[in-house]
Amino acid sequence: MKPIIGITSSIDIEEPVHRLHDANVQAILRAGGIPLILPNITDEEVIKEIVSKIDGLLGSGGYDVSPLIFGEQPHQKIGTITPLRDQFELLLFQKMLKAEKPIFGICRGMQMLNVAAGGNLYQDIYAQHEEQLIKHGQDAPRSYGSHFVSVKENTRLHEIVKEKQLVVNSYHHQAVKDVADNFIVSGTAPDGIIEAIESTEHPFAIGVQWHPEHMLDNDQPSVALFDAFIEACTK
Ligand code: MN
Repeated sequence: MKPIIGITSSIDIEEPVHRLHDANVQAILRAGGIPLILPNITDEEVIKEIVSKIDGLLGSGGYDVSPLIFGEQPHQKIGTITPLRDQFELLLFQKMLKAEKPIFGICRGMQMLNVAAGGNLYQDIYAQHEEQLIKHGQDAPRSYGSHFVSVKENTRLHEIVKEKQLVVNSYHHQAVKDVADNFIVSGTAPDGIIEAIESTEHPFAIGVQWHPEHMLDNDQPSVALFDAFIEACTK
């Protein structure tokens, strides 16, 4: 039986319209899962039911995570936030972690994974990170990588992608700051920005700051990530 993969979606600011880039849906189909787009809701009982019914969670990209949920006031450079999505995803990710069901977080999905597990974020890397940073908001098409990521050996990520260096796309101005307990950094950009995290306790809780769903046609590590995720959801 193919595993059912819940995929988080974004909600617009002006109108209550849910959105998800189809690349996420196609990536799950291609890897052999059944994609199921999840709306942003706040009823905890319903969220509990969702967690019991899905075999894995794909945390998709989206707007900025509200700093209030990791105990900070908004920096001047914080971008658009979606409070309803934050509220929904915080509960959803926490319940998925507790249920030990596979989670694959992409971009905002990785950031939410870290926050839900107790970590925090840079609200704006350019304003808050001490190092001289490279460009993390590429102008190249989404299917092209624009910066390197060093993959740490002896990590789940390394086991999956089988490379010590990746070339990834980059569309973010926030990033993981302090990694949650029981999580480790498995990939970093040359400027020190955290680009991948994973749980050391949970069977499969991996986050990447880039968008592998847009690189599947030309990049084997991106294919391997989705394949490994679906395989974990099948067990
Ligand atoms: Mn980046």
